[in-house]
Amino acid sequence: MSDPIKYVLDESRIPKAWYNITADLPTPAPPVLHPGTMQPVGPDDLAPLFPISLIMQEVSTEREIEIPEPVRDIYRQWRPSPLYRARRLEKALDTPAKIYYKYEGVSPAGSHKPNTAIAQAFYNKEAGVKRIVTETGAGQWGSSLALSGALFGLQIEIFMVRVSYNQKPYRRALMESYGARCVASPSNETASGRAILAQRPDHPGSLGMAISEAVELAAQRDDTKYALGSVLNHVLLHQTVIGLEAMEQMSMAGDFPDVVVGCTGGGSNFAGLSFPYIGHALRGGQKSRIVAIEPAACPSITRGKYAYDFGDTAHLTPLTKMHTLGSTFTPPGFHAGGLRYHGMAPLVSHCAELGLIEARAYPQVECFDAGVLFARSEGIVPAPEANHAVKGAVDEALRCKQEGKSETILFSLSGHGHFDMQAYMDYFAGKLVDQPYDENELAMALAGLPSVS
Ligand SMILES: *Cc1c(COP(=O)(O)O)cnc(C)c1O
Repeated sequence: MSDPIKYVLDESRIPKAWYNITADLPTPAPPVLHPGTMQPVGPDDLAPLFPISLIMQEVSTEREIEIPEPVRDIYRQWRPSPLYRARRLEKALDTPAKIYYKYEGVSPAGSHKPNTAIAQAFYNKEAGVKRIVTETGAGQWGSSLALSGALFGLQIEIFMVRVSYNQKPYRRALMESYGARCVASPSNETASGRAILAQRPDHPGSLGMAISEAVELAAQRDDTKYALGSVLNHVLLHQTVIGLEAMEQMSMAGDFPDVVVGCTGGGSNFAGLSFPYIGHALRGGQKSRIVAIEPAACPSITRGKYAYDFGDTAHLTPLTKMHTLGSTFTPPGFHAGGLRYHGMAPLVSHCAELGLIEARAYPQVECFDAGVLFARSEGIVPAPEANHAVKGAVDEALRCKQEGKSETILFSLSGHGHFDMQAYMDYFAGKLVDQPYDENELAMALAGLPSVS
């Protein structure tokens, strides 16, 4: 009865600085390019979209970047987040492996996303910004930014992918409860939205389209900026609070992970947990295997091309080198909305190219099998995205059982699934199917990649 299942830190142990992996990488990630000139972008090119403090973080090579006190003060509401030892899951799997998970569902929005939303809202407020425009797929990012807008007195406008807007009215209600305005995308409010609606009035939308609408609006007004919930270097930076805390909690448990697992949409919760471990190894410390789990229906690292591409459909963003399925690729409708992005964070892609991480792709039904087993043993219903990480950890634990090894596995439980119960209802009704992506569409989207010499 005395075996601990939970490792909690005092709030004074919230990290004082974020960790920037760029300082420790053997080579820097390729530069971001201006789509017109094909030259590396400078701070001025990004200034219409982001406050200068965030642009400086985007290009920083400092290992540690101080977390402002007002941000730490809000983090205190739910950080340090708990680290659990999944003893009942270990038992259900009959594995000699030890499984730990870092749980980010304790934030007010229910996922890891407020870690960066709070920071981004702080820097925008400090720069005198009045309004932030963004996009959201499943709604987790929109809720997190809406929460942050409420706390810092900023007006938040959110373009929500139309299919999710219709399917997830409760996420929308949450954003509105925090005072944000939520618009179905594609919309009539932007030129890029109108262009798509002219071709197809009932277009279901995509993250790439919603990004185009948000970027277009943000670039038009001086008092308005844009915010992105994943992919960018500064977003991954803010998420490293997850891994920095986890390292302390794992040493409380007297353990060090042999394997670190996370799900990857744009790569931010995965990087948040794993980058401090990768850095530790790069500086000569103990090394862990780092495993990214992606959906088989949108497999950017395992099936995409490592190439320069746009972040959005209308090609308003700069070009970044990343694993991409092509900016026009539309994945089939599966339930992990937060994993339906055509590209990967450039820093995660760079780490994959350097051989610092592995990647695997799983179809959604197997992930829900693992998620339901997790719920029935640990009591937490994971977000559909997080089910991919659960599945990755379960497979590692089963491998340990087969090989008779008692390895230590640490994974990121990025959020709870309380707003995603329709997905679970579909799963229990046998209506959740594994729809493969269209090979022809992928080939066409890849053929359309911009040519960069
Ligand atoms: C958004 C989201 C993801 C995917 O985004 P990343 O940037 O890859 O972390 C994963 N899990 C949850 C719960 C999310 O809300």
